Amino acid sequence: MSFIELSHVNKQFASNTAVKDFNLEANQGEFISFLGPSGCGKTTTLRMIAGFELPTSGQVTLAGQDMTYTPPNRRKVGMVFQSYALFPNMTVAENIGYGLRIAGKHKSEIKKRVDEMLILIHMEDFQSRFPGQLSGGQQQRVALARALAFQPQALLLDEPLSALDAKIRVELRQEIKRIQQQLGITTIYVTHDQEEALSLSDRIVVMNQGHIEQVGTPYEVYKTPATEFVASFVGHLNLLPVKSFDISQNKAQLNGFSIIYGRIAEKFSPDKPCLAVRPEEINPGKVEGQNNLQGVVDSIHYLGSIVRIRVNVQGTVFILDQFNDYRLAIPRVGDLYDFHFPVEACWLI
Ligand code: ATP
Repeated sequence: MSFIELSHVNKQFASNTAVKDFNLEANQGEFISFLGPSGCGKTTTLRMIAGFELPTSGQVTLAGQDMTYTPPNRRKVGMVFQSYALFPNMTVAENIGYGLRIAGKHKSEIKKRVDEMLILIHMEDFQSRFPGQLSGGQQQRVALARALAFQPQALLLDEPLSALDAKIRVELRQEIKRIQQQLGITTIYVTHDQEEALSLSDRIVVMNQGHIEQVGTPYEVYKTPATEFVASFVGHLNLLPVKSFDISQNKAQLNGFSIIYGRIAEKFSPDKPCLAVRPEEINPGKVEGQNNLQGVVDSIHYLGSIVRIRVNVQGTVFILDQFNDYRLAIPRVGDLYDFHFPVEACWLI
């Protein structure tokens, strides 16, 4: 049974449509990310699930009950914000126990639950500190513990890692996943960071301008993007203009050369056809039975474990990612360069 369900949800702010016909069924225990650029309606949708915002139309169901107009405190959902939002004059333990105190729980029960939460977030030794005496990452752990302390049915996180630096972000990302799996709690996670969404989620909802572009597992969204927007927003992509195509032969004509493609995108736009292939699918040299091309190396960028090479084929630029492996020769700008990619790795979009 789906645990969080949004059915034909719309949200209008004056003349601005923030969310358009949003439909989603999140299963019990599932980790779902809302991924999209700034302003695409992720936070507004999350706030409608939490009850901080009411839909203009449509229905929000939690655990089988219509909650569309139920106030936030009666929805049993925990929420974590980018800004931590801890009470600065309360200790860690008091912050975590806050919701339970408001709910009138007995002191001993609050203490037991706070202790459990401190163990869960690995911060047993920090209970008497104030938020100002903690790092950003520690404050966000406390905010997470506070959101979970009253045993919510679902956890909603709004860009919880955006304010942290890169290394802490990766560490805390793993922590969030560990805690979510340990508790088996249904989770919705808002982010504009594709790496976060790909690494954390069971399914990703890719949003653009208030509507859903695609819902799928990280693998589906990355490997079989339904639209040009998803293909370009999630991961890097060569998107090459196509002059004409022959569907009976899976053949696309580009500027002076042709390519055999493996499939056609789910939401293909024939009026502006492009050919898509990911940089990591393209390899140096020639291989029989694959798409083989030759061009001139235009530029080279060292990115650590990867070298990004731009190759110009009769005016069409391909970007390919080659492992920075000592066994592979790295070309120089101006070199003639042969490369290939499998038919299955490229698609008409
Ligand atoms: P970000 O990643 O920048 O937070 P987002 O994808 O979460 O963006 P939302 O914050 O949901 O996007 O905003 C969606 C649209 O709704 C935007 O155009 C925004 O300006 C508008 N909007 C959001 N809240 C309000 C409000 N309270 N009043 C008017 N317009 C709003």
